Amino acid sequence: MPSLFVDGAWISGSGGTADVINPFDASVLETVDQAGPDDVDRAVLAARAAFDTGPWRRVPAAERGALLRRVADLLVRDKKEIARTETLDTGKTLVESRIDVDDVTAVFRYYADLAGKDAGRVVDTGQAHVLSRVVPEPIGVCVLITPWNYPLLQLSWKVAPAIAAGNTMVIKPSEVTPLTSVLLVRLLEEAGVPAGVVNIVLGDGRSVGAPLTEHPAVDMVSFTGGLATGQAIIRASAATVKRVAVELGGKNPNIVFADTDFETAVDYALTAVFLHSGQVCSGGARLIVQDEMHDDLVAEIGRRAELIRLGNGLDEGSEVGPLVSAAHRAKIEDYVASAQAEGARLVVGGRRPEEPELQKGFFYRPTVFADVHREMRVVREETFGPILTVERFADEEEAIALGNDTEYGLAGAVWTSDMGRAERVARALRHGTVWINDYHPYIPGAEWGGFKRSGNGRELGPTGLAEYQEHKHIWHNT
Ligand code: NAD
Repeated sequence: MPSLFVDGAWISGSGGTADVINPFDASVLETVDQAGPDDVDRAVLAARAAFDTGPWRRVPAAERGALLRRVADLLVRDKKEIARTETLDTGKTLVESRIDVDDVTAVFRYYADLAGKDAGRVVDTGQAHVLSRVVPEPIGVCVLITPWNYPLLQLSWKVAPAIAAGNTMVIKPSEVTPLTSVLLVRLLEEAGVPAGVVNIVLGDGRSVGAPLTEHPAVDMVSFTGGLATGQAIIRASAATVKRVAVELGGKNPNIVFADTDFETAVDYALTAVFLHSGQVCSGGARLIVQDEMHDDLVAEIGRRAELIRLGNGLDEGSEVGPLVSAAHRAKIEDYVASAQAEGARLVVGGRRPEEPELQKGFFYRPTVFADVHREMRVVREETFGPILTVERFADEEEAIALGNDTEYGLAGAVWTSDMGRAERVARALRHGTVWINDYHPYIPGAEWGGFKRSGNGRELGPTGLAEYQEHKHIWHNT
């Protein structure tokens, strides 16, 4: 079946084909069509026409909500197939993929409920004959560009609010993991989305992503991915003054005070960083531990990290899957080499696994470095892999300073049994999400996004809807 969906039809496109690789064993999972320049143009113009002249603009918000609810029901129906595809494509475990599908379903339901709830507001003009209203309207044609680590999840955070707000869109998933994005578009089609409202084009950033961000008929680009790509997209969008919302990387502090329960701190520090082999934008890659607990925690985390079972994401016994690609593993190995060259102490890992059944795939052992300092690349840069660095602190002030000592500002956590301190640290950290005595949970109703160089937008929650809206002021002199 063709892989591109343009103006309500599945087409093969003129950009040739590309193999999608299974990171577990480097086999070819599927060969998918790639968009050529003419396909990119057609997709944008289809979205433009659907927005400007199609019936979509007259579809009431409640009906858009009903469409999203149908998609949620279809996700429940197809959960098994979608989760399996996500695991094959990304390498993450089935447990994680199932959670992703559940979370995606919840996001569709959340925006189904929110669609049309905000009718705008009336502003007091102080003049009896003048009515002033501010009404939300869709922004127009949105380009949605997503990364490879949470392909379906990141896309849902964009598609659901963009539809709730009444926009039309062109989706460009990561060329590394495009399969579940195509499945989601099939469900949108089945749920009855009109032709041209949702389009998907496959291909890499240079030949498909960049032309979309430069296209004059596009009103907005919503992007999730790396910092350098985000900067390029902001520059590319400047000429046509598009709205640009970027969700970028993170270098997230996980701060543990010595009054925290030791076992809990160990358990959560491990899942904070090694979930999905560290390929999580909000992963707790910097463990920052109070002096009194530091040595014991490092030793126990090293012991437990060595026990983590790597394996095929499809096997229920696997705790962590492979890295997404050979190129990404090479990047991780480069970070490990640079950390060792800069004098970090390797506690555990720093190597590929020895098991014969893991040799074909892109596996790398969970790795922990202690005795690191702030100038090291492995501490400053987002490695996006299974590397934990451990720093130490003496008091609250130093913990906050270390936690904020990064150009990023996506997420962080604080662990303490002193609730006053927990609240003070949470407020002082300049990160978009702060967990107190927890790590990783999020909910569709609460905003997600970055301070500083982790981004300029917010997804989820009511702000995640407002990102896809214009706010028009109507001054009515009656
Ligand atoms: P990436 O920046 O390499 O690619 C992301 C997407 O951008 C892909 O679809 C790619 O094809 C496209 N792209 C590349 N160059 C482009 C260009 N010039 N113009 C337009 N599109 C272009 O990122 P990645 O390696 O796929 O994903 C990993 C990154 O994503 C990490 O930095 C991670 O932190 C970040 N991320 C952030 C969040 C968040 O919520 N803030 C969530 C997930 C991932």
